[in-house]
Amino acid sequence: MDTGKVLIIEDESKIADVVKSYLQREGFSVTAVLTGEAGIREIKNGYDLVILDLKLPDIDGETVCKMIRDVTDIPVIMLTAKSSEDDRVKGLSLGADDYVVKPFSARELTARVKAHLRRSKRDDKKELSFNNGLLIIDTQSREVRKNGQRVALTNTEFRVLLSLAERPNVIFSRLQLINIVQGIDFDGFDRVVDVHIKNIRHKIEDALKKTVFIETVYGVGYKFTGEPDR
Ligand code: CA
Repeated sequence: MDTGKVLIIEDESKIADVVKSYLQREGFSVTAVLTGEAGIREIKNGYDLVILDLKLPDIDGETVCKMIRDVTDIPVIMLTAKSSEDDRVKGLSLGADDYVVKPFSARELTARVKAHLRRSKRDDKKELSFNNGLLIIDTQSREVRKNGQRVALTNTEFRVLLSLAERPNVIFSRLQLINIVQGIDFDGFDRVVDVHIKNIRHKIEDALKKTVFIETVYGVGYKFTGEPDR
């Protein structure tokens, strides 16, 4: 059974109740609050993950997300009725880890909660391994190995790759990736990100085959598509 403390911030109590009972059945300890203000107060009691509705009666979900990010880096899954690409990217650039578009299935949401909690536990590990050891990222020594061979990445390339690889299948906008490389590159153009990605691909992908590790999400950004080894 999974364990973990989940906070639901959602003003529609019907939705909150359904999600809560699903998660409780899976062994999670769940608290649900109806307002953004209550959520911000509650988060200080220590949680492993937050499910946050974007449209709340008092403070909007985007602001709540930013305030959560000020105090903790636990996974935040946003519930949103908006499904346009812009809104999704906006949510992600505010620091949400994932979003689920309403109406959603509680079972699907529960699966995502589990995936995020597995992932954040794995963040403690020093070595990230993908595709049966084809790609290994050592977060301590900052060494990357492709097929057993050491790959020389620049500091920036390493940071971009690690950020993507820590959250497989999560879409990163170019803006998010610019924030990651900032401090090293002065010019925060989209093109800068594309060049870094191109360089990383050149080093870790197989030139003659389809990309395995970094996929382009057209009009949005990039995502890491390697399969984590357990
Ligand atoms: Ca709502």
